[in-house]
Amino acid sequence: MDATGEKFTISLEVKQGKTKTEKQIKYEYHNPQGGSSLDLFSSAEQEQRQKEKSLKESQLNPKYRFENFIVGSNNRLAEAVGRAVVEKPGEAYNPLFYHGDTGVGKTHLMQAIGNEVIEKDSSKKVVYVSIERFLNEMIESIRTSKQENFRNKYREVDILIIDDVQFVENYPKTQEELFHTFNTLHQANKQIILASDRHPRELKNITDRLRSRFAGGMVADLQTPDYETRMAILQQLAIERKVNIPDEYLTLISENISNNVRELEGALTKIISLMNLGEDMTEEEISKMLQIDIESKRKRITPSKVIATVSDVFGVTAGEIKGKRRTSYIALSRQVVMHILRTQLDLPLERVAHEVNRSDHTTVLHACEKIDKMKKTDPRFKEKLNKCIKTLSE
Ligand code: ADP
Ligand code: MG
Repeated sequence: MDATGEKFTISLEVKQGKTKTEKQIKYEYHNPQGGSSLDLFSSAEQEQRQKEKSLKESQLNPKYRFENFIVGSNNRLAEAVGRAVVEKPGEAYNPLFYHGDTGVGKTHLMQAIGNEVIEKDSSKKVVYVSIERFLNEMIESIRTSKQENFRNKYREVDILIIDDVQFVENYPKTQEELFHTFNTLHQANKQIILASDRHPRELKNITDRLRSRFAGGMVADLQTPDYETRMAILQQLAIERKVNIPDEYLTLISENISNNVRELEGALTKIISLMNLGEDMTEEEISKMLQIDIESKRKRITPSKVIATVSDVFGVTAGEIKGKRRTSYIALSRQVVMHILRTQLDLPLERVAHEVNRSDHTTVLHACEKIDKMKKTDPRFKEKLNKCIKTLSE
């Protein structure tokens, strides 16, 4: 009153049937006219608080979003079904099972779904958990006799997101628990999203009933990104990190690094930190820096190591691989060698042919095509091939 010199009354209005928060009452105290705009204001505030709470409880990382997920031919279907799940959780595809090699964006995409669901409706209960954490919490709950709490935590949700489920392979008890959690949620039309490094049919040591649950909805794979997608991802990352990186540098990374997005990020980080040191680098220097990595990796793998490894995994001898015999199994092992020499060592066609005592480089082309095809259609074979590549890179 002293401040304005005017006289006014303060009315504290208490509506019935509605509990007010301290903040609301304080607000009305200053605004006696109140009205519906006031309720709007506080409900927006409440919504925000609810959103923060839901996010925290979800164990989601808010940085993974659809907006910063680059879509390319490698992940188009996966992204589309993810968006469909956001629209109709529990209805469209249930469960949604993502699979793909490491670093292709499974975790990002799953968390983007969770974040988007909360964004749209903060009352939705979303929980993201890695299978290891699920396992650890289960063990802890048994130890402390709080199994009921554990079960409720995962069975009373709208959307359960479980990452890296391939690790259930070794844990029958976790499989059992997961199976029951799965059924409870599925029967209540609650959404389940899973990710694994393999298709459900390629998971070993899991019960058939769990396998069939995993594959019973939508199974979508994510492949390694092609050149254009790699470029777009790098551009997006540069924007996120607020650095201006010349396109030539990004091109160099995209051209040289193709395995997974995590490696792309690693190369970008390296370049950024060098740029931060102040000096402008020439394209040659960058190229050299990336090349050094690539070269040193390649140097460790020699053609004779490739032949030895493939002989081991496929159970043929090095002599047979280099020899004349054409029985289909030996021929296949030979083709695997050619494929690895091409894709992992980037050897010229003639050189690859020479390593397996062949004179015609079209044999190499034919071999690479055949292996590429088989990789897609024969999971057992793909597993063997991957085993060779993994052994070589260790
Ligand atoms: P995964 O779970 O398949 O091993 P992640 O989801 O952890 O792979 O992805 C590895 C990194 O690459 C993360 O930082 C992720 O944000 C990024 N990433 C992967 N795919 C994309 C994409 N399509 N667009 C943008 N970033 C991506
Ligand atoms: Mg992951």
